[in-house]
Amino acid sequence: MHENQIGINTEMGDGKIILHLDMDSFYASVEIRDNPSLSGRPVVVGADPMHGTGRGVVSTCSYEARAYGLHSGMPISQAYHLCPHAVFIRPRMALYAAVSSRIMQILKSMTPEIEQVSIDEAYCDLTGDQSYVRASSHAEDIKQVIREQEGLTCSVGLGPSRIYAKMASEQQKPDGCVIIPPEDLLSFLHPLPVGKIPGIGKRSVAVLASIGILTVGDIARCDIQILQDLFGSHAVRLSEIARGLDREGLRTSGKRKSISREHTFLKDSLSPDEILSSLHEMVLSVCHELERRDSYSRTIGLRIRDSGFITKTRSVTLIQPTREVRIIENAIDTLFAEMWDMTPVRLIGIRVSGLVHHDPVQRTLFDF
Ligand SMILES: [Mg+2]
Repeated sequence: MHENQIGINTEMGDGKIILHLDMDSFYASVEIRDNPSLSGRPVVVGADPMHGTGRGVVSTCSYEARAYGLHSGMPISQAYHLCPHAVFIRPRMALYAAVSSRIMQILKSMTPEIEQVSIDEAYCDLTGDQSYVRASSHAEDIKQVIREQEGLTCSVGLGPSRIYAKMASEQQKPDGCVIIPPEDLLSFLHPLPVGKIPGIGKRSVAVLASIGILTVGDIARCDIQILQDLFGSHAVRLSEIARGLDREGLRTSGKRKSISREHTFLKDSLSPDEILSSLHEMVLSVCHELERRDSYSRTIGLRIRDSGFITKTRSVTLIQPTREVRIIENAIDTLFAEMWDMTPVRLIGIRVSGLVHHDPVQRTLFDF
């Protein structure tokens, strides 16, 4: 099966739909679920308060405790003074870890790609849903399955990059679902206080306030030079985030879906020997990379750009995934013979995609 394409492959880069999911007061909610008599009471999971003399901090507290001003990271002695009648519970990490891994399992079964970032937080790529309407009903389904199977609520946010999804999920806790499609991004972002941008801490908030920058919109309108003086190399990204231009997807490195190599000749080449030997070098390098990732490729692609900058791309899909040099070389040789029209070659590139992790040899037993 051939996929004929003339022109440069453009990976879908701008239409991402990212979901951020954050369990609500996770440790406290697990404790309340397992002991319903705690329901409706201020519950604090953390260090022993020792009647106000304890050391250590609050890990998580229920929303009822938050009403007294308690929050994660607060010294436990201070929490005790603010709310002495709260129920103070030592953390049971093994229990929370088991609940967490079941929740991540649910996410893996319901979405194509997830990036877990903490015990109770993950990003999922819902780009495949193709619209925010479908993605939001997908998100509601995820919330419902977690509620039914684990008896716990979470807050989710949907947006065109991971940072916007996170900012969305934090807007409406607990049990929230906030959808920010690209067309609503600026009206969502600009009124927010600068501290709502993840990574902007108290110190940065104070520095920005001192020059009159209070909202995300103020950052968007701020001269980049001023931001550079304050934030150095982070200024450009911060400005992009504020202007709604960030499009960062999941950080699942090592799970990239393709491997590519390319080579530009110093002088446009007309020699099939030179071109093929350069391609074979790239095949070797790609096969090493496949081995390093313990992956096999199903689709082998070749790109040829001629001296007039016309680029042709063509790929072949194999019956079974491979990382054998000989098989990939054969595929490339065949593609090259089909594609090359004897015009001088400026650049060549190969790309293997359709990566899988299983061992195809085992599958052969069933295939033939
Ligand atoms: Mg949480």
